Amino acid sequence: MFDLQSTAVLVTGGSRGIGRGIASVFAEAGADVAIAARSLVDIDAAVADLDSRGAGKILGVQADVCDPMSCANLAAEVINTFGGIDVVCANAGIFPEAPLATMTPAQLAEVLDVNVKGNIYTVQACLDALIASGRGRVILTSSITGPITGFPGWSHYGASKAAQLGFMRTAAIELASQGITVNAVLPGNIFTEGLADMGEDYIAGMTRAIPAGALGKPEDIGYLAAFLATKEAGYITGQAIAADGGQVLPESPDAVRP
Ligand code: NAP
Repeated sequence: MFDLQSTAVLVTGGSRGIGRGIASVFAEAGADVAIAARSLVDIDAAVADLDSRGAGKILGVQADVCDPMSCANLAAEVINTFGGIDVVCANAGIFPEAPLATMTPAQLAEVLDVNVKGNIYTVQACLDALIASGRGRVILTSSITGPITGFPGWSHYGASKAAQLGFMRTAAIELASQGITVNAVLPGNIFTEGLADMGEDYIAGMTRAIPAGALGKPEDIGYLAAFLATKEAGYITGQAIAADGGQVLPESPDAVRP
């Protein structure tokens, strides 16, 4: 059960944070893993680390998910190296703060471009390979923010993360007959480089709000993604699954006991 060897996996945003955690779990399970991001320095560091984790091949590709041509080139390079693509983890995303009252059109466009269009371009670019796989898996990294919760300053981000789920549900129907499943993982607060930039006060406040008593690790999302990628998860599609240490459960801060 749960064999991911001889599986070709692409993780966008795999150079840091949650994406790197996802890539690590797949590499340790013996999959061939390609990561994509914009910074070559980060890609090279991640590839060196991933190479030491498993027996499968590791590939790093510089790509911008906002650009359909870049996504097409990315998919072609992965197919050329691995012989196909079985699993796409469309994970690349950004979360800059922008309060509604002062949010500029450029700030809104950037978040929607990366988080929504970037997901769709990535999946489109890999679609022929996923169909050829016969057991294609698409795993989107959404968030609890937007689909379930809200946080002041992140209305554009919440909209983008909820939009991913709208995309997921229709894509899941369109692709089901070709053996492809499309699901989303909804991380709670996961300790990543991106989240560390939010500052100590934010992290302390979030930690107090989580029944499990700690932020998640990138690998916590990786284990969920890896399960959704297995042959055994082939009857699960169009689903949004939170991994958040129970963060969305409390009715009030008093419900979270020390
Ligand atoms: P992160 O540490 O900032 O990493 C983001 C990754 O995405 C990096 O590899 C980054 O590399 C890549 N990326 C960003 N823009 C890109 C673009 N245009 N094209 C290609 N790659 C791009 O962020 P994270 O915390 O791991 O978040 C990853 C995903 O999880 C996002 O979708 C985020 O919304 C979601 N999420 C995170 C949390 C959390 O608590 N951390 C919670 C819920 C959901 P480059 O900058 O080099 O391109």
